[in-house]
Amino acid sequence: MKRSPLKPISAKRLKLFKEGKATIELKKSPLKKKAKKYTSSYFRKECVKLAKIIAKKRDSWKCLYCGRTKAEGWQIHGSHILPEGTYVYMSADPENIIALCSRCHVGGVWKNSKEPSWHEDPIYFAKWFEEKWPGKYEALRAKNSTIKSVNWEEKLKELKKCVA
Ligand SMILES: [Zn+2]
Repeated sequence: MKRSPLKPISAKRLKLFKEGKATIELKKSPLKKKAKKYTSSYFRKECVKLAKIIAKKRDSWKCLYCGRTKAEGWQIHGSHILPEGTYVYMSADPENIIALCSRCHVGGVWKNSKEPSWHEDPIYFAKWFEEKWPGKYEALRAKNSTIKSVNWEEKLKELKKCVA
C-alpha cells in the first residue's frame, strides 16, 4: 500500500513523538517540488546566484565602495548595476554585478546612519559608479540592447563551467 505524504499522524504516534520515541516525517509532496524546478525562471535564478559568486570572486570578496571584506567578517553581496527587474537579460551577467558589503548594498541596521546605501540612495550610487567607471553604465545598456533572448538553461551550463 502506498503511503500518502499527507496521511494524518495518529494520536499514538504523536504521543511517542512528544516523548522523543518516534519521528514524524514531514515530507513535501514530490510533485509540488518538481513543478517548481526546471522552469525558465528557475534556471534564471540559479544563473543569478552563480553570476554573483563569479563577480564576488573577481572583486576579491571586497566591497568596491568602502573596502570592507569577507575576511574581516562582513557579508559581501553581489549587487546588480542595471536593475535585475528592468534588465532581465543582464541579470546573470557578472559584468553587471559588483561586490558590495551588506551595509553599502542595502543599509539594514545602519539605516539611520548618514552613510548611503545602493538601494536607499540609488542616485548617489549611480553618480559614484559613473565617476569610478566612466562609460560603464552606457556600455552595459548597449550590451543589453543587443540581446534578443536568453536560454537560461544553456546559460547555467556556461556559468557552471566558470565557477568550477
Ligand atoms: Zn561597503
